[in-house]
Amino acid sequence: MSAEQASRPRIGVLAVQGAVSEHEDALADVGARTSRVRAADDLQGLDGLVIPGGESTTFGLVAGESGLLDALRARIDDGLPVLGTCAGMIMLADGIAGGGPQPLVGGMDIVVRRNAWGRQVRSFEADVAVPVVGEPPMRGIFIRAPWIESAGPSVEVIAEHGGHAVAARDATRIVAAFHPELTGDRRLHRMFVDGVRERGAGQQHEEDTVVGAQ
Ligand code: GLN
Repeated sequence: MSAEQASRPRIGVLAVQGAVSEHEDALADVGARTSRVRAADDLQGLDGLVIPGGESTTFGLVAGESGLLDALRARIDDGLPVLGTCAGMIMLADGIAGGGPQPLVGGMDIVVRRNAWGRQVRSFEADVAVPVVGEPPMRGIFIRAPWIESAGPSVEVIAEHGGHAVAARDATRIVAAFHPELTGDRRLHRMFVDGVRERGAGQQHEEDTVVGAQ
């Protein structure tokens, strides 16, 4: 990764369906360049990826048929950093509680429950404390949202609401059940892009070390 890439990393936003432009705005606000990902080729040259909310079954079907799902799985397994919100979080989960099988990217050691908050409260807003981004709490917009039913040891839960985990991270992934892109609060996007920058700086250091050793 060049110094330019490290300071202004290129983040792809999956544009199969769902809230794309809101994520692009949020990423631009925290200094990233963005491009839209519709096909496997669009993953080339990316330093990170956002999987937006939407409808995970639709996304799984469309991306599964085009081969994009396999390509995503390969790049993400290979360490491409990803931010997944709502349906994006579902796509990254290793499993779904109480639901039928549906195509997923998988790879994150969480099990999620889709449309978890019940028929009466399908969509709501709430203040959600996210201590790793500091005070004040984030305004969480939940739209037919999932929650994280269980998480393995590689996963750190970073926010809870109503006794349920609603945001988490592991070495390369950040997921949220709510929609940070729909508020002006950029702290979660900043944490993600800062992580991408750090990863880039680490790779740059490795490259320098290898060159230096020759
Ligand atoms: N209910 C959707 C699903 O299960 C997620 C909703 C959202 O992304 N806002 O895929």
